[in-house]
Amino acid sequence: MSTADIPTRTPSLRFSTRRDWAARQVIGYLMQQAVENPRCLSLAAGLVDEATLPVAETRQAFARLFAGEGRARTALQYGTTPGAESVRKVFLKNLARLEGRAVAELGISPDRLVLTTGSQQLLSIVGEVLIDPGDICIVGGPTYFVFLGTLHGLGAEIVSIPTDEHGLRMDLLDEALARIDDEGRLDRVKLIYLVDYYANPSGMSLSEERRREVVEIAHRWSRGHRIFILEDAAYRELRYDGPALPSVWSFDEEKETVILAQTFSKSFAPGLRTGFGVVPESLLKPVCDRKSNEDFGSSNFNQNLIAAVIEQGLYEPHVEMVCDAYRAKRDAMVAAAERYFADIPGASWLVPDGGLYVWMSLPESLDTSFEGPLFARATRIDQVMYVPGDLCFGGPPAERPRHHMRLSFGVQSPEGIDEGMRRLASAVRAVNGTP
Ligand code: PMP
Repeated sequence: MSTADIPTRTPSLRFSTRRDWAARQVIGYLMQQAVENPRCLSLAAGLVDEATLPVAETRQAFARLFAGEGRARTALQYGTTPGAESVRKVFLKNLARLEGRAVAELGISPDRLVLTTGSQQLLSIVGEVLIDPGDICIVGGPTYFVFLGTLHGLGAEIVSIPTDEHGLRMDLLDEALARIDDEGRLDRVKLIYLVDYYANPSGMSLSEERRREVVEIAHRWSRGHRIFILEDAAYRELRYDGPALPSVWSFDEEKETVILAQTFSKSFAPGLRTGFGVVPESLLKPVCDRKSNEDFGSSNFNQNLIAAVIEQGLYEPHVEMVCDAYRAKRDAMVAAAERYFADIPGASWLVPDGGLYVWMSLPESLDTSFEGPLFARATRIDQVMYVPGDLCFGGPPAERPRHHMRLSFGVQSPEGIDEGMRRLASAVRAVNGTP
């Protein structure tokens, strides 16, 4: 065959089904919107506050880590899939502090910790090891939209349960499980996903009573197989008011139902991409096997660095300082909501005790989605960006509420927050036809 016989047509591309499912994530599109509208003041970005990032603390911990050759060399070497035991011990001690218990009272050893690349990696791995296409994951409505993308990427069926100011409605969770059971599909339910501290996007926390109840419900419906709870505690340490709530994990006496996902991204530095999971014994090997396929261990160096921060007593004061800064920003956003939105009919918002988000609702007639008039007006004319609320709901698109917005007070200064809220209210008035 001569070269003249070789077909010149570009061969078609054939991707996996999972690649097509992954295309349903929206985080990429949202980031693109930010890039395409650079003059926009962003109330959308879920990034943490740049000004309070722990530069001095990280420098100090780094100096300590590199003070001796041995520890430095260990940190620069590959680690193990779940992470170094010395680091896991430090993280477990820190977890015990959050739980208000001694390490010995937790009922687990450091072996139950798997250190991950942010908590996102744990969420993804848990999905991978539990969910086959068509399996059911129960989530709150609204919930963390990146995890919805993860679930779409696995071909999962997402069942969305309404939430209120006390978190996911347990009566409706129970009803949904009964309905799925009636349909003969209980065997497809693998996971209940909860963002239970100052949730992304609603800012609300699961009440203590419901924390106990959700474990009880998962146990009761785990008839043929275990239904796991994935407790995503990403914002746990960003607490500005109110009591420190016990984890859902703490109500799971056998420690076999709840997977607790923790991260240092919000409380310390997301750039270090360090999180960890507290994993039931029965899931340890599956999670580590899957993680070995991905990376056989997250950044050993970053994990050691954070352990040094904690050991030197630099962590707690930093978290306290960060909380003071965010509390002021939360207050600025709530004050601005009152200033600019109070007289917009049908506008309401939830005041969070922690986290980074205010969830705002508008009249149902006002479409806040990417395709609706408000997003276009806000980004192109008033130069302000928010996260459309419909992205945070699972279930069929037609059934997703389209009149909410997630507003973040993480990135902007208090003055920027006030200006952003003023612009947003102006966009709402223009679209709504209110003066
Ligand atoms: N869960 C929630 C609810 C989040 O908002 C985030 C970050 N936006 C994560 C998990 C993942 O964060 P990381 O991977 O940085 O720990």
